Amino acid sequence: MQIDQATSTGSGSGSATGTDTHCPYCALQCGMTLRPVEGAASADGTSAGVEVAERPAFPVNKGALCSKGRTAPAVLASHARITRPLVRRSSSGELEPATWEEALDLVAGALERTRRLHGADAVGVFGGGGLTNEKAYALGKFARLVLGTSQIDYNGRFCMSSAAAAGTRAFGLDRGLPFPLSDVSRTGCVVLVGSNLAETMPPALRHLTELRSNGGTLIVIDPRRTRTAEQADLHLAPRPGTDLALALGLLHLVVAEGRLDQDFIDARTSGWPEVRSAAMAHWPELVERITGVPVPELRRAVQLFCDPENAMVLTARGPEQHSKGTDTVSAWINLCLATGRAGRALSGYGCLTGQGNGQGGREHGQKADQLPGYRKLDDPVARAHVAQVWGVDAAALPGPGRSAYELLDALGGDIRTLLLMGSNPAVSAPRAGHVEQRLRSLDFLAVCDVVLSESARLADVVLPVTQWAEETGTTTNLEGRVLLRRKALDPPAEVRTDLGVLNELAARLGWEKGFPVDAEEVFEELCRASAGGPADYSGMTYARVAEDDGLFWPCPEPDGAGTGHVTAHPGTPRLFLDRFATPDGRARFAPVAHRPSAEEPDEEYPLRLTTGRVLAQYQSGAQTRRVDELNAAAPGPFVELHPRLAGQLGAVDGDALAVVSRRGRAVAPARVTRGIRPDTVFMPFHWYGEGRANTLTNPALDPASRMPEFKVCAVRVELAAQAP
Ligand code: SF4
Repeated sequence: MQIDQATSTGSGSGSATGTDTHCPYCALQCGMTLRPVEGAASADGTSAGVEVAERPAFPVNKGALCSKGRTAPAVLASHARITRPLVRRSSSGELEPATWEEALDLVAGALERTRRLHGADAVGVFGGGGLTNEKAYALGKFARLVLGTSQIDYNGRFCMSSAAAAGTRAFGLDRGLPFPLSDVSRTGCVVLVGSNLAETMPPALRHLTELRSNGGTLIVIDPRRTRTAEQADLHLAPRPGTDLALALGLLHLVVAEGRLDQDFIDARTSGWPEVRSAAMAHWPELVERITGVPVPELRRAVQLFCDPENAMVLTARGPEQHSKGTDTVSAWINLCLATGRAGRALSGYGCLTGQGNGQGGREHGQKADQLPGYRKLDDPVARAHVAQVWGVDAAALPGPGRSAYELLDALGGDIRTLLLMGSNPAVSAPRAGHVEQRLRSLDFLAVCDVVLSESARLADVVLPVTQWAEETGTTTNLEGRVLLRRKALDPPAEVRTDLGVLNELAARLGWEKGFPVDAEEVFEELCRASAGGPADYSGMTYARVAEDDGLFWPCPEPDGAGTGHVTAHPGTPRLFLDRFATPDGRARFAPVAHRPSAEEPDEEYPLRLTTGRVLAQYQSGAQTRRVDELNAAAPGPFVELHPRLAGQLGAVDGDALAVVSRRGRAVAPARVTRGIRPDTVFMPFHWYGEGRANTLTNPALDPASRMPEFKVCAVRVELAAQAP
């Protein structure tokens, strides 16, 4: 493998000392430089020929990287890497090496056969929040044009869709953070709801540290005393599933203590009277009973939040992954609106998107109800615009399809063949044992991946594809900042890009044109398709996003573009300063009320399980479980529980605990800590096998976002075996 400087684009991109790019993992998209290692790639696969160096000029992480980003090149050279197509032959029943011709012919044949025998909607497509903007765009176009199916969604539905739905409901637009992350350090108070930044995005923590050095305060809301909570001025630990009541209780106190910003409410919002009534029904003592958070702590939180001139609320998966996730996020947005903490500099609500391209992945058409530019698939104007860019009749575009879990649940039923790209639902989906059975029941499963993930192992054909450092493409980070990931080295000889795979499949299915292999060409089309949409990229080019800081959307093409007399749009780092993106320009309060989780504890399942991530692993672990250093730091699943509960079970650290829910049983070692509520247990979800946390989780869906309830379900815990 050789460092490929020729493919670098724009200023500061490549030099004799390396290629500037971004981390392949989370939505912070930390800037880094890939440098050639003396001696280049090793023959035994232990070195990719590159190492990660700091890139201090990138403003989001200023050179800091977590262990995942620092070790990311190890996956490029991993022995687990798939370097040839694999085909399951009926003679052996095993996945065996095959040529690209044979593998692609098999996939195209299965797609065509299923369409012919069962109809276009019998073919499903499942994408991922880690795919670049170009891939997400091409995958959505492939599904709707080539396959003609409405059955496409992606794992980002599991990640931040409740915040997206609530943000759209309130502001008319969903962009994770409507301001640069660096603004966080200059506000007066940050309420961090259900986010453990210290483990999920460690470099982001510096913005909170700076906030406190600048005299600001940090409130963390989390049922666990996480590493992030330990740094807070105030930590509230509500029962899992009660964040909605907590936000309503704080709003009640804001009203009762005369902390409203009535001028802001009158000038820039609508719908306050109904929300005020809902909040007044959630008095502090009731909220204490529901959440377990004492009234004095509620009062203290209101004081810290309302005293400074500016404040922010940032939510993450904690409040979102619930059957009431959209309403819960709406309750936090209501709190911001009622106190005037929105639509002005250094104040506002933001969602901390999780997956690497979680933001861009939900803008360009791999979501069941969406067209590129964050347009709605059921909007006739949007359909006409995108159809014109694609050169087809709008009537040719199918309508909205099923959401992610509903799609997975339909596998083997009315969906007979699935194309899976950049996702590992056998580990990451809720009720994963059932989802695994559904994957097994398909007539045909085709998977594009870099390693033989647990889902790829079930496939009929596995297509080996390039990784982040071997291809060029854009991502959009949690701030809505569009960034260029540059190709730094060549992939193994028999590995192709996802765009190349879609190009080949489309050609076999009669679409010789329309699916370029070149990412920049796809980006140019994506920008045209997004023109005039909520997420407008039409003023962007690779050269522009290649600048060190990237470009924030919306970035429309200026009037008169092409005449040579216009100034390029600078992008939009801060949204809503003058008006919100609603028809009347006002932010909309959403009347919401507390309701129980889909599954509350009972005699048989008396505890609550909540799930999450650890520092050294990422999502389903398909990549990070291939890195020795990360495995040494986080070798496997565990069950975190309070000493009181451990005492009741007669368990000590290291004992094997069985956690049982209505969906299954998972076994993992006990980790006893005072940092968790006695009525709650926690499991990280990165692993497969008997410790798979998602065997237990509840697929109850939020009615608006269709996001599953990963964050709480009822369980019982049993001592399975004592530690040796
Ligand atoms: Fe990569 Fe996220 Fe770690 Fe940054 S915080 S290095 S983007 S995994």
